Amino acid sequence: MGLLNEGKSLSHQETMKYAEHVRKHGLIQFINQYRRFKGRKGDPFKWGDEIEYTIIRFFEDRKEAKLCLRNGELLAVLNEQERTRPDEIRALWRPEYGAYMIEGTPTKPFGGLETFGTVEANMKGRREEIGAHLKENEAILCVTCFPRLGCENFTDPPYKPTPSVGVSGSLFYPDEAINQVHPRWKNTTNNIMERRGEKPYTNLPVFRDVNTKIPIDDTYQRDENAAPDCIYMDTMGFGGGFCCLQATFQGSDLDQARFLYDQLTPFCPIMVALAASSPIYRGFLSETDARWDIISGCTDCRTEEERGLKPLKNNKLVLKKPRYSSVDCYLSPANKKYNDISVDYRQEDFEQLRKSGVDEMLAEHIANLFVRDTISLFSEKIHQNDEEERDHYENILSTNWRSMRLKLPVPEENIGWRVEFRPMDVQMTDFENAAYVCFVVLLTRVILHYKLNFMMPISKVDENFSNCQKRDAIKTTKFWFRQNIQEEDGISDAENKPTGVIVQMTINEIMNGKGEEFPGIIPLARRYLEDQKVDSDTSKKLNGYFDLLAGRASGKIMTVATWMRKFVREHPEYKQDSVVTERICYDLLKTVQRIQNGEPCTELLGQKVI
Ligand code: ADP
Ligand code: MG
Ligand code: MG
Ligand code: MG
Ligand code: MG
Repeated sequence: MGLLNEGKSLSHQETMKYAEHVRKHGLIQFINQYRRFKGRKGDPFKWGDEIEYTIIRFFEDRKEAKLCLRNGELLAVLNEQERTRPDEIRALWRPEYGAYMIEGTPTKPFGGLETFGTVEANMKGRREEIGAHLKENEAILCVTCFPRLGCENFTDPPYKPTPSVGVSGSLFYPDEAINQVHPRWKNTTNNIMERRGEKPYTNLPVFRDVNTKIPIDDTYQRDENAAPDCIYMDTMGFGGGFCCLQATFQGSDLDQARFLYDQLTPFCPIMVALAASSPIYRGFLSETDARWDIISGCTDCRTEEERGLKPLKNNKLVLKKPRYSSVDCYLSPANKKYNDISVDYRQEDFEQLRKSGVDEMLAEHIANLFVRDTISLFSEKIHQNDEEERDHYENILSTNWRSMRLKLPVPEENIGWRVEFRPMDVQMTDFENAAYVCFVVLLTRVILHYKLNFMMPISKVDENFSNCQKRDAIKTTKFWFRQNIQEEDGISDAENKPTGVIVQMTINEIMNGKGEEFPGIIPLARRYLEDQKVDSDTSKKLNGYFDLLAGRASGKIMTVATWMRKFVREHPEYKQDSVVTERICYDLLKTVQRIQNGEPCTELLGQKVI
């Protein structure tokens, strides 16, 4: 969760008036913070996850499932507990984009290997904590995208979209589904549309089953941007209103944080494919398994000039990517040679950072954040003391929704330089969510221990990013990856040319190995556990997590997306027409709930019995 200021949020016109002010002061604030913290060293290894949950209400009589707009009531009780009984709670609960969403994190970060075995129980405790406040027939589920999000009456209580008067202009997503706890989300939604000059949107190709009708519905007649053979989605709610799984870990210092940020960057698309959990949108099966590109399109606030459709006149730069996108550059000086795509920034921002002592690579990264205007501003936060405060910087950072994020230290809470891994869809069960975050975070230890090197030109990471979301990507697609991951390179490389042979491998080969040619990430992680002599309980738990990932990488067990597709296609009410009806949605989510509560599902989870 980013900033949550109290107070009056400004309209688009007012926000734009202050855009240059926020940029100017945000940059100064970063420079001041950087000077203060750049030498901070010796922070311990700590980390934590974020899970975004969906509040569902089942209607047993009608056999329907709806998104339950009760986040405000739940947050009120949960946050009151946090305030009055901070020692008894098991999770921190925070608002998210949808009024049917809630985000839970552990009360305290996890730490060394011995704590990895506690993660799953912590996640279970979180659901129990919120579960105590649910009404009969309500459930708190982990689903990336509610299958009928945007269909008629998908919320409880039901609301109609108001395309001509609402903040989003959406044909599908009523304003009431947006978080009402704070004006920030409605405001951001509106500002994105106003800034762009039209609604942002994504046309997602529908999955073509034998009876799939094209056009899929009449949307193309109601909106000129809608393609007849696509699932058209037309507001930030398609994306902001989806749920993800994130992990944040602390570096011992800025150098280590930058190093690990770089090393995990090539893993983003690999983990997107392994975590793929969202094949259904607006009641249709799609050609896509993961949410990333949808949210990218539906939050794209770039103007026509910035998208290169018109000559630059009012804007300063053409911007290659939307603000929700994969990162453009590595951060460590040693990895400059792998930055092979141009990084958008204003020259004067870059020079100001350089003059203030920020090195070239970091200056590029920070200047790149500042190509985005603020899209959410609060009246009482406009004038700040740049020496002490940093809200303008955090304002820009927290709306740069990239695959990786570098976070500043928070000395008041004894928090150092951190890195966030952001691209994964949320999984269905605590077991899977624990497995994915433990794996990603453990990987940082494996990298440090064996001095692994995953660097490849960042253009190849981008290529992987566009492939990793496709239906069945694990089975059908090869990904660029470094062949020799034990090869040292970097600072000594005087010519500054990329080293390493980059080859195409399947995710199975990357994760499980390819004979003599490639050791496989999971075998290396298993070896690390042995080398570290972790206690047998922790080792058993973590090896169980590796089994899940290894099984999904090999295709022996299904990703959530594959499993959901199969569920729909085998449902008696399914007519081979790509349509996910109310009843199919209800049965699917009921099954999700049972599996989440411990019903075995070998095809999804392997031999693991929760
Ligand atoms: P954001 O929404 O800005 O990404 P959150 O506060 O929601 O951030 O989540 C941050 C995560 O980082 C939580 O899981 C939290 O437990 C974890 N965390 C807290 N302190 C540290 C720390 N010092 N190092 C690493 N992670 C931390
Ligand atoms: Mg958060
Ligand atoms: Mg986060
Ligand atoms: Mg969140
Ligand atoms: Mg967030």
